[in-house]
Amino acid sequence: MQTRELHPGAVHERVVQAVDEAAGYHAIIAIHSTKLGPAVGGTRVWPYASFDEALTDALRLSRGMSYKAAVAGLPFGGGKSVIIGDSRRISREAVFRAHGRFINQFKGQYMTGEDVGTTPADMELVRRETPYVAGLATTSGDPSPFTARGVFRAMLAAVLHRWGSEKLAGRTVAIQGCGNVGYNLARELQKAGTKLIVADIDAARAARVAGELEASPVTPDEIFDADAEIFAPCALGGVLNDETIPRLRAAIICGAANNQLAEDRHANAIEVRGILYVPDYVANAGGLINGAQELSRAPLETKAAIEAIYDTTLKILTIASSQKITPAQAADRLAEERLGSR
Ligand code: NAD
Repeated sequence: MQTRELHPGAVHERVVQAVDEAAGYHAIIAIHSTKLGPAVGGTRVWPYASFDEALTDALRLSRGMSYKAAVAGLPFGGGKSVIIGDSRRISREAVFRAHGRFINQFKGQYMTGEDVGTTPADMELVRRETPYVAGLATTSGDPSPFTARGVFRAMLAAVLHRWGSEKLAGRTVAIQGCGNVGYNLARELQKAGTKLIVADIDAARAARVAGELEASPVTPDEIFDADAEIFAPCALGGVLNDETIPRLRAAIICGAANNQLAEDRHANAIEVRGILYVPDYVANAGGLINGAQELSRAPLETKAAIEAIYDTTLKILTIASSQKITPAQAADRLAEERLGSR
């Protein structure tokens, strides 16, 4: 395996590229910060159109992990792996074992888990080469139910902040994306007595939630116009943009998707429309908290920490209101204070 240190600016502590031609492996590991502890962040497999696109994603995602861990009060920094390739076509054993060898070179400074394009079985392959991996089927496993629980807790806090009571019963929530997190969130919300409107580009997934949880399915495009008080983006990033924000009828946005804002300025556009936005990395930290339990030397109270996403959300929304800044800015400031960069 050939590795090369990259120096894409002063923001990241370390960025390394690795190529193992025999394994068909080409990856980047970006470590944003280890100030609060070893960097953690999942492994993404994606068919990036160019090396620069992969590097940009690794830099942006690893920074996001630092902020997410800092705001959640975890003793971890932020990092991320991106493997350039099509997850349906790679030779899994060769690629993930190569990835394990690459991670091992960081000697615990960086630890990984699943992300887009990877599964617990892939992490088992990584584990054959390095101990610095979580999210195995036999350990903390699928993070999605924990992520969904955290989103639910964040939503309760947002509902309290907005309407003075955290009662969800009778409210309508539009969920975009009925995958691992969206499905589990729908279950939590149905138990709490909400009405559900759901959409997925995979119609069978939306139909499953509709059938099991009495949700009303709409098309992926219609979800932005749904007559719902809360919009929960649980599909991909970039969904809050110039085209979609004017269409939303919800009073609250709170969901699991990473990087929901197409650009930072969209936090203002949401504010101007009078919509309360719960920053994505505040709401979706449950899976990270669960994985952190496995990686932490000191025991963490996982359940309590996930439930506390409620308190963190309330704190951020209160700071935003009192300082007349957006919740996205309030969350960033809290993270930067903890990271000592402010
Ligand atoms: P997933 O792949 O299981 O589900 C995503 C779903 O969204 C899929 O069913 C997909 O068909 C659907 N989808 C994609 N584009 C869509 C569109 N335009 N309209 C409607 N549906 C669409 O992924 P997941 O694990 O449920 O994660 C969902 C989001 O939450 C992702 O952005 C992920 O990065 C983020 N996230 C997940 C976790 C976790 O624990 N899984 C943790 C933190 C953040």
